[in-house]
Amino acid sequence: MRKQVIAGNWKMNKTHTEAEDFIQATKNEVPSPDEVESVVCAPFPFLQKLVEETKGTSLEIAAQNMHFEENGAFTGEVSPVMLNELGVTYVVLGHSERREIFKETDEDINKKVHAAFNHNLTPIVCVGESLEQREADQTMDHVEAQVKKALDGLTDEQAAKVIIAYEPIWAIGTGRTATSEQANEVCTHIRRVVIDFYGSDVAEAVRIQYGGSVKPANVDELLSQSDIDGALVGGASLEAASFLKLVEAGK
Ligand code: PGA
Repeated sequence: MRKQVIAGNWKMNKTHTEAEDFIQATKNEVPSPDEVESVVCAPFPFLQKLVEETKGTSLEIAAQNMHFEENGAFTGEVSPVMLNELGVTYVVLGHSERREIFKETDEDINKKVHAAFNHNLTPIVCVGESLEQREADQTMDHVEAQVKKALDGLTDEQAAKVIIAYEPIWAIGTGRTATSEQANEVCTHIRRVVIDFYGSDVAEAVRIQYGGSVKPANVDELLSQSDIDGALVGGASLEAASFLKLVEAGK
């Protein structure tokens, strides 16, 4: 049985005080990691403090992005070495907002996935189609290509640890959730792609999250699907009570 991973993606939200309040309200309330992995993906300036405050608790802290180089002349970037040193354990890579607004390519994302493994970070790799692609019946091909490129060159052991977040772009922040059948159909396809590349043992181990307007009211239905092993949640993860409901659902 795969363990569910529930990750709250704060994006570029919260003040330092709001971040603190959230962590105080949740860090001792999330279930044990034997039951569900509970992760908060916070902005860079909060990471150090939040990692310190959650030490010894079941709440894990993730970064929302990083560069693939270890150091050098990359003004404004944050390296995997820095994140690992801070005690961050997961990193979101290739979120559709990074791909669309900041023009990250599949090649960048593949380099970042390798860099994450080289520095003991578990990558949460985001894939997903636009509304135009869905309407043109290109969802499966597009997502398949993104998964293949992101995972290219990983060892079996690394591939088994990857978390893939399927996030249809048209469902992100729109209140328009994919139906659980639509979401599961794509997640099943993603697992088949992993079988083709890495075989069924690896594919059975890989966790595939759904993301896109997940909230307490629809999370149970989504998580009950055969190939959905968690959720990457934006808006509904900003409030502590709502986040706690989501992680409970992952048990
Ligand atoms: P949303 O965002 O839950 O607000 O739709 C999800 C995401 O972008 O990860």
